[in-house]
Amino acid sequence: MKYLLVGAGIANLTLGKSLAEGAISVVIIDRKDHIGGNCFDYFDENSIDIHAHGTHIFHTDDAEVWRFLSQFTHWYPYQHKVKALVDGQLVPVPFNFNSIEQLFPKEMAERVITALLSEFQFNKKVPILKLRESKNPDLRFLAEYVYEKIFLHYTEKQWDVRPEDLDPLVTGRVPVFVGRDNRYFQAKYQGIPLEGYTRMFEKMVDHPNIEVRLNTEFDKSMLDEYDHCFFSGAIDEFFDYKFGQLPYRSLRFDFLTFNRPYFQSNSIVNYPNNYDFTRIGEYKYFLDTQSQNTVVSYEYPEVFVLGKNERYYPIINEKNKRLYEKYFEEAKNNKKVTFLGRLGDYKYYDMDQAVARALELAKTFCKTNTN
Ligand code: UDP
Repeated sequence: MKYLLVGAGIANLTLGKSLAEGAISVVIIDRKDHIGGNCFDYFDENSIDIHAHGTHIFHTDDAEVWRFLSQFTHWYPYQHKVKALVDGQLVPVPFNFNSIEQLFPKEMAERVITALLSEFQFNKKVPILKLRESKNPDLRFLAEYVYEKIFLHYTEKQWDVRPEDLDPLVTGRVPVFVGRDNRYFQAKYQGIPLEGYTRMFEKMVDHPNIEVRLNTEFDKSMLDEYDHCFFSGAIDEFFDYKFGQLPYRSLRFDFLTFNRPYFQSNSIVNYPNNYDFTRIGEYKYFLDTQSQNTVVSYEYPEVFVLGKNERYYPIINEKNKRLYEKYFEEAKNNKKVTFLGRLGDYKYYDMDQAVARALELAKTFCKTNTN
């Protein structure tokens, strides 16, 4: 058995390792000159771990995913916190009791917090759309405030559409938190690979059954040489865009180094309402690197244009899902190729979801191989 894995991102690296362990030989190709896809990172001259395609924070509740990756790395026990600039103040996001007290007059803050506690469970998240439906006018006020100050303009910048024109799964990612936990994620397992993502990936592919070929463009004629192909590139590209292009958002990063210990108070500051960038990431926070210098990235959303920039985010809405379905149906007829990853499945996967999907696929294929 010999399998071809197209794309050396987190999905195919996970799959490759799992297949290799199941005695299947794999060749992983990528058109780029490095593994890791958009999770690629490197240590700069200040020993700061730079995430080349923007900040990546690993978080999961899936013990299997965590155990799998932990074979290849130790983790820095980083707990992610985000602040947003709202009405001139830096407040915790997701919006929580601390944010409310920072921005609202005392009496009003107390009323809103009491209302939240009376309607919703403590230490749980409430989607903003749910808050909007509340009968309590204080909660509807809170919903409108958060919608306007946190979501609307950030989402317009990020996606170039209004929030209601996106799948609720996207905007549901930033709810209101009923409590004082300032963390962005409450997942059981969180961290940053102690020696970086790329080092973790290098260890994953260090296996006699895995061959990695970089700077290698996929060509359909390659399929003849292999028993099966796993394609984590863009599914529309695989089918030569026969139904039209699947839309994506892209990003541009301006990386800046400052000769001072810190630039901002925490790793990510969101700018929902001002400026053309959505957020500034400061990289030394992730591994708590000590340096006289600091590196930040300003993140500018852009429309994805084929041949000009990279695909970062599938734009999930009804229209695009229908277009994806056409490719998905077409893919079903192609028994020799399985699609996976953000671009192969056209899904807004977090890293852990991409790993989970690859682990499931590996189980299926290793079983087939031994039967
Ligand atoms: N979002 C927002 N305001 C914020 C943060 C996020 O409106 O301050 C919305 C926005 O639509 C964004 C989505 O929530 O694209 C997901 O944000 P998250 O930071 O989870 O996404 P990432 O870009 O890190 O995958």
